[in-house]
Amino acid sequence: MIKNRLCCPLCLSAGSEQKLIVPLSNFINTNSTYDSGHLQRLVQQVQDYRSIVSCRKCSFIYSEYTLTNKLNIYLYEKVIDWKKSFNKTKTAGKQREFRGVFDTIKPLLREMEIKVLDYGCGWGDLLCMMKTCGYKNSYGFDISAKRLNWIRTRGINVLSSHELIEKNAPYNLIIAYQFLEHDPDFLETLYFLRSVLTDAGFHCCPK
Ligand SMILES: [Zn+2]
Repeated sequence: MIKNRLCCPLCLSAGSEQKLIVPLSNFINTNSTYDSGHLQRLVQQVQDYRSIVSCRKCSFIYSEYTLTNKLNIYLYEKVIDWKKSFNKTKTAGKQREFRGVFDTIKPLLREMEIKVLDYGCGWGDLLCMMKTCGYKNSYGFDISAKRLNWIRTRGINVLSSHELIEKNAPYNLIIAYQFLEHDPDFLETLYFLRSVLTDAGFHCCPK
């Protein structure tokens, strides 16, 4: 159900020291979009998920356990209340945040036909900004079917699997905003993303 990180995600060496266990109350009360019933069910399954450790070799601090892809889908489709999550992305603060990311990648959007993949695109705010500015060759991927369905209704290209991403490759620019910390197999994902990027392409992983 949860995955034990047997080695440091940064230097890949084994051996870590526990730094703290995040109190359950912190885990529950930090996100206003959580549905309390589904969250309780998730928390019962992931008690150990709250352990934070430090790598003995490189001192990188990370979660000892990570959610599997299956639990990540449960988190995004059930635990997170989709209406609250959607509304949160439309607040002034969140829109400012997305605008900041867009401004960061803008120097890389040199041609209107540049092919962009937003990996973990959520509700598609970055893709909407790109579309508004005339960039039509952009694609969104997310593990949440609900989010992808919404994006489809906005006329944005959607890729719902790695197979489809591969079929549509290569990309000049891949954005993966706020994704590394959620992906249980992020090294494999990074290798995959490199394989679908052009040689002169850029992979932006802000935050
Ligand atoms: Zn390390």
